[in-house]
Amino acid sequence: MNPSDSTTPVSMPLQEDYTEIRESVRRICADYPGSYWRDLDEREAYPTEFVKAMTEAGFLSALIPEEYGGAGLPLRAACVILEEIHACGGNAAATHAQMYTMGTVLRHGSPEQKQRYLPQIAAGSLRLQAFGVTEPTTGSDTTKLKTRAVREGDHYVVNGQKIWTSRALHSDLMLLLARTTPLEQVTKKTEGLSVFLVDMREAVGKGMTIRPIKAMINHNTTEVFFDNLRIPADSLIGQEGKGLRYIMDGMNAERILVSHESLGDAKWFIKTAVNYANDRRVFDRPIGQNQGIQFPIAKAYAQTQAAELMLRKAAAMFEAGLPCGEYANLSKLLSAEAAWEAGEACMQTHGGFAYAREYDVERKWREARVQRTAPISTNMILSYLGEHVLGLPRSY
Ligand SMILES: Cc1cc2nc3c(=O)[nH]c(=O)nc-3n(C[C@H](O)[C@H](O)[C@H](O)COP(=O)(O)OP(=O)(O)OC[C@H]3O[C@@H](n4cnc5c(N)ncnc54)[C@H](O)[C@@H]3O)c2cc1C
Repeated sequence: MNPSDSTTPVSMPLQEDYTEIRESVRRICADYPGSYWRDLDEREAYPTEFVKAMTEAGFLSALIPEEYGGAGLPLRAACVILEEIHACGGNAAATHAQMYTMGTVLRHGSPEQKQRYLPQIAAGSLRLQAFGVTEPTTGSDTTKLKTRAVREGDHYVVNGQKIWTSRALHSDLMLLLARTTPLEQVTKKTEGLSVFLVDMREAVGKGMTIRPIKAMINHNTTEVFFDNLRIPADSLIGQEGKGLRYIMDGMNAERILVSHESLGDAKWFIKTAVNYANDRRVFDRPIGQNQGIQFPIAKAYAQTQAAELMLRKAAAMFEAGLPCGEYANLSKLLSAEAAWEAGEACMQTHGGFAYAREYDVERKWREARVQRTAPISTNMILSYLGEHVLGLPRSY
């Protein structure tokens, strides 16, 4: 059967799937309760112990094929791992990139690059979790990015700046998108960008400078400066000039994966709101008896259920090898909005106590908000749907 045939039957699980994986993730998360994440949040520290536990359990190598030492699991299994971390009150931001950034190397790297990097990434001895695309002056307009990589003999010389490069201080390698052919010299603006796998252990202090950004959430995010950084020519992944396509190739998987973090957040907010609404008594009755409290939670539950169906559909389409750009984008949009609605309902249900850090509600609310902006903002998804799905005029 042709996997790209639109008549190919696709099935998706309707019940709780990957139960063993879910239970195992929940067991690990039980050792890292709200107090652990609150403490990190206050210190803006990296969850080293949690990342170690997830690595040792083999969860971060879920998507790396067995021949390179990974678990070789389907996308859906990795989705479930991320969902559960968030549904338990934790945050997968420190771990998710180690799961999927390697996809570009896996799909487009040379056999030599795959052998050199993937087994070590699978073992967790090499961290590939820095992804340098966004730049301060060009933002969402990726094809205009200004970081240049110029070939000089057996090296490239890199100059420019990235912003919001998360986990750069906790990564050994960075996947870097830079322009190798000036914009004025390409026929299509999507051409002339190249992807490099930069060994940051060699680069820091020799042309690469990393500065942490103080942010609203504990995301270990940074700005990275390149000042005549020399990287070996064999850092190039695939063909020169085709880098944007390679990055875009991984977008559907990444969108489906991170949507599950929002799904987990939404479930955490709803469970937390329901518990509090049942327990908290004001005016001699549980606050949850008031429909002003009950309805927003019920509405968020309905939105979350609908989003979950879309997420399952997107993962099933992806695994069947069917075009799933529309569904990956719908998943990202609907799950981020469901988490936001559920977060708002949870905040309102908790009254003043929502602001007390010990309840974790304000932390989760801050953390869940990011999915409306990164890795892609809601407007960019709506624009994709308008243009590519609905056939409306291109707006930019
Ligand atoms: C916590 C965090 C972590 C991040 N981690 C990474 C990372 O690891 N690596 C990385 O490369 N990037 C990362 N990012 C960057 C993130 O992907 C960008 O912030 C995001 O893509 C938006 O880009 P921008 O901030 O430059 O916004 P801008 O492009 O300046 O846009 C600002 C607003 O205007 C809207 N807008 C712009 N143009 C249009 C248009 N034509 N139509 C409609 N609306 C428009 C945008 O949607 C957005 O809402 C991270 C960001 C955050 C906040």
